[in-house]
Amino acid sequence: MPYIGRFAPSPTGPLHFGSLFAAVASYLDARAHGGQWLLRIDDLDTPRCVAGAGTEIIETLRAHGLQPDGEIVWQHHRQAAYEAALQALRNAGSLYGCVCTRKGAAATAAKQGLPHGVYPGTCRDAGVPERDARALRLRLPAGTLAFNDRLCSTQQHDSQTAVGDPILLRADGLTAYALAVVVDDHATGVTDIVRGADLLNTTPAQIAVYLALGLPLPRYAHVPVQHDAAGNKLSKQHGAPALDAKLAAENLQRAFAALSLGEIPADEPERMLQHATAAWKARI
Ligand code: GLU
Repeated sequence: MPYIGRFAPSPTGPLHFGSLFAAVASYLDARAHGGQWLLRIDDLDTPRCVAGAGTEIIETLRAHGLQPDGEIVWQHHRQAAYEAALQALRNAGSLYGCVCTRKGAAATAAKQGLPHGVYPGTCRDAGVPERDARALRLRLPAGTLAFNDRLCSTQQHDSQTAVGDPILLRADGLTAYALAVVVDDHATGVTDIVRGADLLNTTPAQIAVYLALGLPLPRYAHVPVQHDAAGNKLSKQHGAPALDAKLAAENLQRAFAALSLGEIPADEPERMLQHATAAWKARI
């Protein structure tokens, strides 16, 4: 079976251990399957991006032996593809205009007992013309959005009460992550998405986008989120420290240990990754 995997960091700061861990997991899985490993810089959400962080992340990955196949994709070059996908969905009648603010939608959702972040459908049948809309949402068909995760088993989410119609074109005019990630992964032929479990809850909306665009679904594997000593998720928001590329061997050993791959002696990063790939292969 062909295998194309990828790592898709957002350049909101330098690479920290939590993202190195996700990069290593996706890399080892791709190599263990004899597949390709692509790199995409998700720099679409410009207000959150930090100048120079994308290039810095690429260099840090290389210093850890994580050399991507093919050309690196930058989302800021992909606007035409997002617009084409949006137009296809518009033509199919799958989109609707929404005038709700985030706060307003959240208050209505809370009143209806919906989980946090689930859109209550206020504008679904309101016929808001696109020129008056703040955002465009995807109309989810009623029923269950299901997918298999290699590590998190079968996932089933009710489209109305657990997912909610996702925004695909944001109020600030930017393409939403749920649309961009699907368009880009499909365009680059990605068959396998290995990423942190903090993104597991974003997957049902992405499944809905694949289905609405009539695209085949990738396989998913969500790896455990890494925490700091205080139990916080290792993330930029929680101030996870930048990785020191001079400590590449130690950083890799820490990632292999978190993946329970056993002892892999310090060496050139490329050789360490080869050993780790063999250990990962024995497990899949
Ligand atoms: N760019 C996203 C992030 O860093 C991840 C994209 C993905 O792996 O699907 O949170």
